[in-house]
Amino acid sequence: MTTSSLDTSDEVAKSNKRKLPAGPENMNRALEKSVSSTDAKQSVDNPPSNPGSPVAEPEHKEINLTVSENFAYDDANLILRSNDDVDFKVHRNILSLASAPMKDLIENPPALSKRRRTDAAQSPLPIVSVDETEEDLDYLLRYVYPLSRLSNDSVEDLELGLRLVVRWGLEAAREELGSQLNNTSRIEEDPAKVYALAKEFGLEDTRNSALKRLYEISFEGDQDYFMDETLGLTSRDLQEVISWKRKYLTAVVSIFEKYKPPVIGFSATGNKPPCKGCSAARQWCWWSHFKSKVRRFLDLINEDDLEELVLKSMEIKECRVSHSEIFNILHMLRTEFREKVTAVPVT
Ligand SMILES: [Zn+2]
Repeated sequence: MTTSSLDTSDEVAKSNKRKLPAGPENMNRALEKSVSSTDAKQSVDNPPSNPGSPVAEPEHKEINLTVSENFAYDDANLILRSNDDVDFKVHRNILSLASAPMKDLIENPPALSKRRRTDAAQSPLPIVSVDETEEDLDYLLRYVYPLSRLSNDSVEDLELGLRLVVRWGLEAAREELGSQLNNTSRIEEDPAKVYALAKEFGLEDTRNSALKRLYEISFEGDQDYFMDETLGLTSRDLQEVISWKRKYLTAVVSIFEKYKPPVIGFSATGNKPPCKGCSAARQWCWWSHFKSKVRRFLDLINEDDLEELVLKSMEIKECRVSHSEIFNILHMLRTEFREKVTAVPVT
C-alpha cells in the first residue's frame, strides 16, 4: 500500500464521493481507471468482500483511488496532487528541467496540509500539492513529457492553455500555442480577442495577423466591439489600433498609386497592339480610372475586389485587350501587389 490513494480519512472519502458518486457504474469506472497504476492492481487483487453488491458500500471506498491515467510512471519519485485529489506520479528531474516555477515547486513545496503528513507515513514518494485541477495538470504535463498534446479547437481553449503554460513558465509551450492562435480560423472566430491575447502574451506574429484582419473590419463605429470587458483592452489600445489602421491603409493605397504599368503597344515583337486606346496612351488605357477608384476601396487587400475593380475600369474605358491579355494583367497585378502589401508594416 503505497500511496495516498488508500487514505481512508474522511476528507478524502468525501472528495472521492464528490468526484465519483456511489453507484455500480461509477465503481466500474473507478476500477477501469485504476488498472493503469500498480497501486490500483493491488486494490483489484483484493476485491471488496461483497463484489456482487450493486451499491458502493463505504468499505469499498478505497477502490476509488485516483491516480492519473497518463502519469503513473512506475519509476516515479514524486507525486503531484491536483486540487481535486488526483495523483500524478512523475519525475523530479524531468519537472525541474521543464521550467523554473516547476523546479521551485519541487524544491520549496507549499505549506502542506494535515493530510499530507498522514500520507507521508504511508507513501515512500514525496507528495506536492498543486493548485490546479486534474484536467489542467494533465494538459500541462503533456508539454513536459513526450505525450501528444490535447487539441485546442477554439480561441477560448487556447486562452486557457496559454494562461496555464505561462503560469508554469513553459516557454516552448507558449510559442506552440501562440502559433496555433495565428491561424485563419481562430482569427476569423474573434480577431479582437486574438489581438488582445497576442498582445498580452507577447506573440508578435499572431498580433500582426490579427491586426491585418482588424484592418478589414469597420469596427471604429462600434466601440463595444473592441471594448468588450472580457477582452482586457483599453480605449488607448483602440486608439492605437485605429491609428495603425489608417497608416496601413494609406500605405496600401500608395502602392497602387505609385505603380507604373508597363509601356505597351509598339512592341518589339511587332504584334498588333491589343487596344487602340492602350497603344495611344502607351499604357493600359483604363489605368488612371482604376487608380481614381482605388481610394474608395481602402481595404483593397481582398484579391476579388482587385479583379472586379480592374474589370470595371476596363469596361468603362472600353479597353479592347484580349481575354488572355486580361488574364495576364490580373495575374501580374495580383502577384506584385500581394508581395508589396504583405511587406507593409502593420504598426
Ligand atoms: Zn485599352
